[in-house]
Amino acid sequence: MTGAEAVVKGIADDGGLFVPENFPSVTPAEFDALCGMDYPERAACILSKYFDEYDKKELLDAAKEAYAQFEDGDAAPLVRLDNGMYMLELFHGPTCAFKDMALTVLPHLLRKGCDLLGIKEKILILVATSGDTGKAALEGFRDKEGVKIMVFYPDDGVSKMQKLQMCTTDGDNVNVVAVRGNFDDCQTGVKRIMNSEKCKTLLKERGYLLSSANSINFGRLAPQIAYYFSAYCDLVTSDQIKFGDKVDFCVPTGNFGNILAAYYAKKMGLPVGKLVCASNKNCVLTDFFANGAYNAKRPFYRTMSPSMDILISSNLERLIFELSGRDAGKTAERMKSLSQTGKYSVGARELAAMRESFYADCTDEDGTVECMYDFFMDYGYPMDTHTGVAMSVAQRYEEKCKKDDPKADLNPIVVVSTASPYKFPQDVLYALTGNDVKDSFKGVKRIHLLTAMKVPESLKAIRYKPPRFKTVVGVDKMFEEVKKFL
Ligand SMILES: *Cc1c(COP(=O)(O)O)cnc(C)c1O
Repeated sequence: MTGAEAVVKGIADDGGLFVPENFPSVTPAEFDALCGMDYPERAACILSKYFDEYDKKELLDAAKEAYAQFEDGDAAPLVRLDNGMYMLELFHGPTCAFKDMALTVLPHLLRKGCDLLGIKEKILILVATSGDTGKAALEGFRDKEGVKIMVFYPDDGVSKMQKLQMCTTDGDNVNVVAVRGNFDDCQTGVKRIMNSEKCKTLLKERGYLLSSANSINFGRLAPQIAYYFSAYCDLVTSDQIKFGDKVDFCVPTGNFGNILAAYYAKKMGLPVGKLVCASNKNCVLTDFFANGAYNAKRPFYRTMSPSMDILISSNLERLIFELSGRDAGKTAERMKSLSQTGKYSVGARELAAMRESFYADCTDEDGTVECMYDFFMDYGYPMDTHTGVAMSVAQRYEEKCKKDDPKADLNPIVVVSTASPYKFPQDVLYALTGNDVKDSFKGVKRIHLLTAMKVPESLKAIRYKPPRFKTVVGVDKMFEEVKKFL
């Protein structure tokens, strides 16, 4: 199995996820070199360790092209706040969320992968989205030759801005469909289509091969590893830490893709302390890290951080695979139990290993709003609702560490900022001022007046654009839409 195959197939024939056979290491000398590089060079360097059959120069060109689409030069700037915390801002891409970090690169990994494998068919990409992946994937793949992309989103489960972003996408090879249901319904629906014989026959007839751009695709994961190395480099080059010092990362989590990339970075030798897994009111992961029992059978809440409103956290499969001592059989059993009963659990040794690397906590809507407000008032830093969840958890984590050991030196903590405040303008404005506005762009304008933060060009551009896509279907009609599209 090569990197190309993993990207093109997306998911293994038995429904399992692809994982690296081993974790390539980054030596101290290589790390030194990384520190002297710009972001595209750092990304290409990490990618080439997993995609060693790809041409290095082409990977670098792809990374340069991808990250040139980010506003203000640096694709992953690290910002120091006055309270000593660091923000890793991953939202300066074309769709204003961290999904751009990978989805601007994935089209290249896929196209090159098809070339390497001698694949002649066209590619159909099906995406289930809780809001941000959809738009980022549409932007990444629109007008790319030999590819069609179709995105399903939960009709009532995304913000107005996210919906507008997706439904105004240009390009002849794109389609966007709303589904009556929540994100898990969309994701399960897409998985069902991908595994159905009806679909396989249809695709064969039309000359298509199916692939996915969801966060379970290894081509999504690999580019995300790079920014953890990059953040660490930035801490070293700005003399905040010495090479070898441990750094904690706090990540707002839904499908466990972003934080898993941090875990992979650690496996590659990055000096990571704790990985803090932050959840919103849908705290299925917090409970799992507390007692080792995963239980998706629980009420589903719609929150201000919709991209984290997830009960079936797909990439967790890759973590429990590692924790089980890479036992594929055991992992498959657990995933089977998850799909049949909504539950599975891990043993005491695995739980201990999990808690060695991770700390998990959650916060409710009030806690998120309060934290966003406080940070704006105290440090003048506006953050989006997902980042608000992470910051709230990060603060509580620091307090706990201080209480547990008042004399200990705390690791520096980097909070991963996953979306622009302008992407969720109504909720952000509410958090900062207590005011409700009906119109997203009115929210954008007020936030701008309040914070003086620059409004991303991509959001300005969609303001007066009429939506192209208006179809809404039930979960059972998703396949019909795929048929029409092909
Ligand atoms: C997708 C997303 C998340 C969650 O990331 P996972 O990789 O699914 O854990 C958090 N915040 C924002 C803004 C997102 O778009």
